[in-house]
Amino acid sequence: MIDLHTHTTASDGRCAPVELVSRASIAGVTVLSVTDHDTTAGAAASAAACAQAGIEFVPGIEVTAVVDGADVHILGYFIDPDSAPLAAFLTEQRQRRVDRIRQMVARLAALGIALDVEAILRPSRDDSAKAAGRPWIARALVDAGVVASSSEAFDKYLKRGKPGFVSRVGPSPREVFDQIHAANGLASFAHPGLIGRDDLIPSFAAAGLDALEAHHSKHSSEDTIRYLSFARHHGLAVSGGSDYHGDPSHDAGGPGSVSLPPVLFHELKARWTTSRATASRPSTSTSS
Ligand code: MN
Ligand code: MN
Ligand code: MN
Repeated sequence: MIDLHTHTTASDGRCAPVELVSRASIAGVTVLSVTDHDTTAGAAASAAACAQAGIEFVPGIEVTAVVDGADVHILGYFIDPDSAPLAAFLTEQRQRRVDRIRQMVARLAALGIALDVEAILRPSRDDSAKAAGRPWIARALVDAGVVASSSEAFDKYLKRGKPGFVSRVGPSPREVFDQIHAANGLASFAHPGLIGRDDLIPSFAAAGLDALEAHHSKHSSEDTIRYLSFARHHGLAVSGGSDYHGDPSHDAGGPGSVSLPPVLFHELKARWTTSRATASRPSTSTSS
């Protein structure tokens, strides 16, 4: 099984890297990518655990870009998790997340719902590599007894159009593709079936997108077929994974519950090898 989309406690997953890799190993995963939101903080521990378990580890990330005020998730694969320019970009991304949490908590306060924003943000203050997100507010709303569950928190307060919602400010997809490429990685459009903006795919492909996530736990089989065909049509590779968060209210299945067919993984990897060879070729060697 090849699962190229999972999360750890470095972002909004519930499993520490070692626990995630252990669950993946038990499930029979042979190739694993950890794709935390806007951070590579889980990469080193995940790589070490994968090496121990005999799992091929693909360094990954899931970066939030913004198009027309809406979030678009871009996966990065085979990135250098220690790239300094990438680290600087991700620090900026996480700061934007913290700013947004503060604005949303202020909106809730204006509605008479008082939450302790410093307590909500404590994990990101204790560890600046952690990516804050709306699920943290959702949990605070549950803990305060305002709602019964995280999904109710989103439905009543935190979703777009609800009173606590604040639009995200962030980079364009092209900027994210460039950041991922600068860190030696490939960029894949995450779960396009959940975004509903298939019209963006041609412009993404022209802007440097490398792959489409056709296989995803929340894609129907029709979605998968449609994105496989989009990928072929636009000369894109294909990625796929479970998007496992270790969170029963979020997950459709465990690690490996969605598996990228090996032939597609090999195509993705071959594209990366080719892109690296092209990128590292000196610009003067234009002969032949
Ligand atoms: Mn998530
Ligand atoms: Mn996502
Ligand atoms: Mn994800």
